[in-house]
Amino acid sequence: MSIKNVTVAGGGILGGQIAFQSQFMGFNVTVYDVNDSALKHSEQLMTSYPDIYKNFYEDGQKADEVIENIRFSSNLADAVQDADLVIEAIPENVDIKKDFYKQLSRVAPPKAILQKSWFVSATATIKSPEIEPYIERLTNRDLHDHKINTGGIITITDSNWLMSFAVHRQPHFKEQKENETTVWIYGLYSDTKGNFVNKTIVESSGEEITQELLYHLGVPESKIKQLSNQNNINTVPVFMPFITSYFMPRVAGDRPDIVPKGSVNLAFIGNFAESPSNDTVFTTEYSIRTAMESVYTLLEVERAVPEVYGSIYDIRELLKAIYYMGDKKNH
Ligand SMILES: Cc1cc2nc3c(=O)[nH]c(=O)nc-3n(C[C@H](O)[C@H](O)[C@H](O)COP(=O)(O)OP(=O)(O)OC[C@H]3O[C@@H](n4cnc5c(N)ncnc54)[C@H](O)[C@@H]3O)c2cc1C
Repeated sequence: MSIKNVTVAGGGILGGQIAFQSQFMGFNVTVYDVNDSALKHSEQLMTSYPDIYKNFYEDGQKADEVIENIRFSSNLADAVQDADLVIEAIPENVDIKKDFYKQLSRVAPPKAILQKSWFVSATATIKSPEIEPYIERLTNRDLHDHKINTGGIITITDSNWLMSFAVHRQPHFKEQKENETTVWIYGLYSDTKGNFVNKTIVESSGEEITQELLYHLGVPESKIKQLSNQNNINTVPVFMPFITSYFMPRVAGDRPDIVPKGSVNLAFIGNFAESPSNDTVFTTEYSIRTAMESVYTLLEVERAVPEVYGSIYDIRELLKAIYYMGDKKNH
């Protein structure tokens, strides 16, 4: 499906920028906000953007026409009536979000893609040896042999939250005790109720996230409540309201170059700078690569930034991956 009509819900600093950039890039944009004065404010915020764009893009002159082509509406049904994509940029408040999505689900056309966010990540510290066999039976590895455990993440495909977890080489932290295991957990679907816990991951406490994980690991239901006790496993959830912004589709020019053209003393580093390598965002490596490139370029250091390892194109690596995926069996 090709996207033509974009509705941005929330015309604040973030939403206004998204709306302006989307319209500038040729989409038909509608901005929705709670009332006319919020929309007026949104329009006002955008008035400073044309000047910035003019200097930023070769065809920046067209930025002058952008605001007059954006449609503003304080009626949600009207704002999304022909939307192919709805981008939500309303305040990071769970009650406001819940209310907004409830209303949106009533009026959004079936074709509309609702841009949802992955919100919660959690770290669990397992202290009870009773829980360990439920992980070891999946990995066929000893959690405390100081070697790699799950390798990558294990995704529970039939989990309502689309829950995943990873156990890296233990101990993961210097202060960690020898008998403890740290686990990284997340759920990609933030707005569906769990299979065991009758709540979304966003509404769940650390203990409830533990219960959902134990349920999927196959712990008998009669034992879940007792084993999810903080003394047995301590899970700390963290909200990451903007995490999916890493993965937003982008075209050249959406994010600044590491060293912008003509710059002699300013560089952008991190996952939101545009690296000329074909590296993947959401990695520490990406950030480090941008830092190396900025230093080498600005200080004229004659050293190349390490290349991204082309494993996806290397038949030897692909065969090796198949071998390991098949538990090192040759058939
Ligand atoms: C849950 C999760 C799991 C991840 N797993 C992996 C993984 O397995 N492998 C991997 O390679 N990457 C992973 N990443 C991504 C990796 O953590 C990031 O790509 C990396 O940390 C980015 O490094 P950075 O230094 O660019 O930014 P950050 O680490 O985000 O550092 C930015 C710093 O700037 C500070 N800051 C923000 N605003 C201001 C301000 N106005 N003034 C001063 N300081 C400010 C912040 O507090 C922060 O310390 C994961 C990320 C998350 C959230």
